[in-house]
Amino acid sequence: MECVFCKIINKEIPAEIVFEDEDILAFKDIHPVAPVHILIIPKKHIASINDLEEGDIELVGKMIFQAKGIAKNFDISQKGYKLLIRTGEWGGQEVSHIHLHLIGGAKLSEDIRPII
Ligand code: AMP
Ligand code: ZN
Repeated sequence: MECVFCKIINKEIPAEIVFEDEDILAFKDIHPVAPVHILIIPKKHIASINDLEEGDIELVGKMIFQAKGIAKNFDISQKGYKLLIRTGEWGGQEVSHIHLHLIGGAKLSEDIRPII
């Protein structure tokens, strides 16, 4: 499997993991755009939102639910944060394994480079 995020799931390449359960992995983005920048991914390889199937609905819900918990752990819940999923070429998706960006820790789009 050539997918870099599957390699992180399989512990073939290192990452700073901040949350893991049987379905979900979350780790620090290697090129953070804000003080908190976490990627939340399903352990199942799904290339993009375009490849979601009906059976994945609960999994996507878990990704967002864990984002809530991770935001709380990083103490950014109250001030707020952004969640982002890029899709396809025009959406700027670089890694073909669905990932939810959790971005916070600064007043976004004013203190840091805008990402949207
Ligand atoms: P996207 O542009 O939405 O596909 O986001 C891909 C993200 O993955 C970028 O923010 C990269 O910095 C991040 N990334 C790529 N490779 C790694 C890696 N090995 N460990 C952590 N983050 C990575
Ligand atoms: Zn993958």
